[in-house]
Amino acid sequence: MTERQSTTTAGDTADVVILGAGPAGLLLGNLLQRGGVDCVVLERGTREHIQTRARAGFLAAHTVRILQRHGLADGLNRDGQDHSTCEFRSDDGRFRLDYSRLGQGERHTVYPQQALVSDLLAHYTDAGGRIRFTTDALDVRDTGTDRPTVTVRTADGRPGHWRARYVAGCDGRHGAARRSLPAHTVRHHLDHGVSWLGLLADAPPSLDAVGYGVHSRGFAGHMARTSTVTRYYLQCARDTRTDDWPDDRIWAELALRLRADAYGPLHQGRIGQRGVVHLESDVIEPLRHGSLFLAGDAASLISPSAAKGANLAVLEAELLAEALLDDLAHGDPAGLDTYSARCLDHIWRAQEFSHWMIGLLHGSPGTDGEARFRDSLRRSRISALRDSRAQQDWFAEHYVGVGALRAA
Ligand SMILES: Cc1cc2nc3c(=O)[nH]c(=O)nc-3n(C[C@H](O)[C@H](O)[C@H](O)COP(=O)(O)OP(=O)(O)OC[C@H]3O[C@@H](n4cnc5c(N)ncnc54)[C@H](O)[C@@H]3O)c2cc1C
Repeated sequence: MTERQSTTTAGDTADVVILGAGPAGLLLGNLLQRGGVDCVVLERGTREHIQTRARAGFLAAHTVRILQRHGLADGLNRDGQDHSTCEFRSDDGRFRLDYSRLGQGERHTVYPQQALVSDLLAHYTDAGGRIRFTTDALDVRDTGTDRPTVTVRTADGRPGHWRARYVAGCDGRHGAARRSLPAHTVRHHLDHGVSWLGLLADAPPSLDAVGYGVHSRGFAGHMARTSTVTRYYLQCARDTRTDDWPDDRIWAELALRLRADAYGPLHQGRIGQRGVVHLESDVIEPLRHGSLFLAGDAASLISPSAAKGANLAVLEAELLAEALLDDLAHGDPAGLDTYSARCLDHIWRAQEFSHWMIGLLHGSPGTDGEARFRDSLRRSRISALRDSRAQQDWFAEHYVGVGALRAA
């Protein structure tokens, strides 16, 4: 470590203050901690909140390799399930793609995000990593200097300040890092005009594949989480409320859109967590402002249509950790200088594929000329995917890949 770092002490000072204890913040914390960097993670929620927040589940092969490389994959090696098949069901019948036999031959590991977060948290704290729960970051100041300050409000309502050399904004889309960006920052934003009702059912998966139901009433998705829990999605009206969807209505609609009459019934069970997700995407450019860096959802929100968000978060956290370690431990700032451009390359590739998936899975509501046109495009995309090996290889490479990465 350089003299500069050794001057910082514990308490309200750290070389790197990390905002947010999601996959991005906790992976970054682990890698910095191991590299001997004095860091702290500030998390608005409680420990219980972050360990039970169900979101992602499909980890790309590259994500798994990163976690394995750093010895952080014991849980997913033990409990994760290999997944390599998806099934499309529509008016024109159904077909399956085994993407481990296509493209780069990669597969997913299904492992719930809350389990990954719990694993990363345990590794971090076991190694002595500092984390402050129920600490809300309010803003980041002086990012144009090498002594940025994070203003926080602690659990008991008292204000506080954390001073750092660098701040890593891993606090998601509504976090303090984004709020603290200069006015000239570019935010690319797209509202896809589609909403999903997301559900977690205490029921075993009903098929041994990701199920995509493409129906005139809207999209329905089936994704395994564990042997006893399944995630389902139903495309819904923008203004829908979860109260509008009693369990009977949900199971009837899922059965209809996934064509259970033709392809077999769905295993039903208690529906636990449910929420409405509006499919939006955005990208912040650049991802660095002086001593403030963005990673994960704070850097780019990506619609869950292609299950990329957690995978990008892990990729970016590793790149940022390497760059920070090079700078703090070896005085080499080159990685920090290129961090934004390297991430944006991956982010835009992932955004493009996610956007393509939205067009593949959703028709347009209405019967006017534009709706009919979009619906015909969707049918054409599905038939090309069913019939063209080249299209299937392209799909597989992007479906299981992370942005611009190819399998090694
Ligand atoms: C329904 C759904 C399904 C998804 N499925 C998949 C999938 O299958 N595969 C996939 O790759 N991705 C998926 N995603 C996306 C994935 O969950 C996110 O991209 C991922 O959580 C991003 O990780 P992160 O660490 O950047 O942010 P987060 O996981 O959001 O963590 C950010 C943390 O920052 C904290 N925070 C926020 N504001 C503050 C503040 N002011 N001060 C302190 N702390 C703060 C939050 O409490 C949170 O703990 C899905 C998302 C949704 C909504």
